[in-house]
Amino acid sequence: MTFNKVLDNLSIYEAGKPIELVVREYGVDPKNIIKLASNENPYGTSKKVVKALETKSSSSYVYPDDSMYELKEALAKKFKVNDENVIIGAGSDQIIEFCIHAKCNENSKVLMAKTTFAMYEIYAKQTGAQILKTPSDTHDLSEFRKIYKKEGADIIFLCLPNNPMGECLDAKEVYKFLDEVDKDTLVVLDGAYQEYAIYKDGKKKINVKKVTKKYPNVIYLGTFSKAYALGGLRVGYGIADVKIIKNLYKLRPPFNVTTLSLEGGKVALKDEKFVQKCIKKNFEEMKRYEKYAVKNDLKYIPSYTNFITMYTGDKLSKEIAQKLLEIGIIVRDMTGYGQNAIRITIGTTIQNSQVFKALDKLLLKKK
Ligand SMILES: *Cc1c(COP(=O)(O)O)cnc(C)c1O
Repeated sequence: MTFNKVLDNLSIYEAGKPIELVVREYGVDPKNIIKLASNENPYGTSKKVVKALETKSSSSYVYPDDSMYELKEALAKKFKVNDENVIIGAGSDQIIEFCIHAKCNENSKVLMAKTTFAMYEIYAKQTGAQILKTPSDTHDLSEFRKIYKKEGADIIFLCLPNNPMGECLDAKEVYKFLDEVDKDTLVVLDGAYQEYAIYKDGKKKINVKKVTKKYPNVIYLGTFSKAYALGGLRVGYGIADVKIIKNLYKLRPPFNVTTLSLEGGKVALKDEKFVQKCIKKNFEEMKRYEKYAVKNDLKYIPSYTNFITMYTGDKLSKEIAQKLLEIGIIVRDMTGYGQNAIRITIGTTIQNSQVFKALDKLLLKKK
């Protein structure tokens, strides 16, 4: 059988390895597995959310409220926009997919940083669009400008902060760039980790209301999978001018977000105290990684989010990641991104201590 020829150019996205696989393949007790590969919140789902989900689960026999009214309303309130500026997806991944399909075909161009979230490229390639990448691994807007002036683009992705590198542009620089972009180019501001960046440095904060009002060609994306600790529920959102939202809606499958996901998102937004506590802890633990790297002369990228990208020196990161996996510590090898580095999600104090102990042995050959 032959398939759509755009699939020939596509690879299958490799997600962070699940706990179940490590149990099966390496016989590690699930209790001892440390999963730091997918940037989940290591402190677990908030108790308030768990309780709400338990109550709501008895409604599982009916379809979800497809208007998603309550969660939309809560998000609109949080970002000081109107309900009609909001679209909710099965993760913000789904909104990325809608954006690409709303703008691209085989004649389109999609511009992004060299090393950024893999799904931008995967969805773009599904349409046969051409991918344009800046030369630097991290976001450099002068490089974006240069390519955009020369080649144009139908969509530009800015990841703020950037996964998997961890750096983040200042909001001011982003606004200046937006001023220069043609109104027919859709700019996606991926704020999957904005909550972390804002905590560390207010200059990183994208003013979603202002962007939505001022730039009819910009969409801001957020997710409940990271700081809000709901990765398993698959719920994310996009905020933009009504015209963008209406067009994305044409691509939305009915009931794309489950009843429990909508409920979880709604209650998670109300438990801001939990989220802020987790973020505070994240940066306290981040300091330990920075100290560890400096002490042992390992290069790392200063991070505005909940993971750190650490280079493995003269050791192959692929081997280090594999050896960590065999003892039940799941991190992300970045060889596929052209970096001899591992990306480690910042875990709990105990988890991080285990990581340091393992790295001592694997990287530094300490006993
Ligand atoms: C995790 C992540 C997302 C989306 O996650 P969902 O779980 O699909 O909401 C989007 N962008 C980046 C950069 C991410 O790291």
